[in-house]
Amino acid sequence: MSLIQQLVTLHRVDNQFRALEGRLETARATLASQERQLDVLTKQTEGMRLQERQLKTTIHALEVEVSASLVRVEKLRNELNTSANEKAYKSILLELKHLEENKKKIDDQTIGEMQRLEELQKRIVEQLAKGAERQRFCDIAKSELKERRSEVGARLEELRSERDRAASTIPDAARKIFNATADSTDGEAMAAVSEVNRRQREYACSACNIEMPFEAVLRLTSDQNTIFQCRACGRILYLEDALRDTIVPAPAKK
Ligand SMILES: [Zn+2]
Repeated sequence: MSLIQQLVTLHRVDNQFRALEGRLETARATLASQERQLDVLTKQTEGMRLQERQLKTTIHALEVEVSASLVRVEKLRNELNTSANEKAYKSILLELKHLEENKKKIDDQTIGEMQRLEELQKRIVEQLAKGAERQRFCDIAKSELKERRSEVGARLEELRSERDRAASTIPDAARKIFNATADSTDGEAMAAVSEVNRRQREYACSACNIEMPFEAVLRLTSDQNTIFQCRACGRILYLEDALRDTIVPAPAKK
């Protein structure tokens, strides 16, 4: 088998392998993207839960402060009734006034914090719904990947060893060119020469349609052990047998 024939064989297997692997890769990428989005949501939820705990602690502290203040008011009222002199009486009144003002402030603050808590809890409910929805997407993506794996896994392994076998007979230098070209063309490393006009001897690269000099086509008919790459797209060119038979070399000059 000539080098070009070996490369064509490798190309056919490599192409199937890449297409199948691409399907797996798409499923993998979908799952990864869903997981990333779920992760963002989960972190946001954690942040909201922390905020919720902090608000509850603040509200609780305010409530403790109010009840302490109420106890103090009760005590002062009793003292008011038994106060011995005017000075003490006035001082108690002053403290009661101060406590009252302070309680009003705390009440207002408590109302504000409770409103914030309520709004936050509403957002948490929405957030949890979003998280549950994203989790569903994740589960779907996970089962699709699993399904894809069971569908193509075995075939992929077959193709992998077929590809390795096909590649093993090709010299290193040629294999390197093939791999680099396959990587840069999404697995389309080889392009057949296409006939544009037989009479005019016009031929082109079937992948990018750039016209090929007839000498280059002739070289492909005579030398099947050298790699010729398309000068435009870089793909490795080959001639289909049917086309090769139609190409008559120009008569040798005498
Ligand atoms: Zn080309």
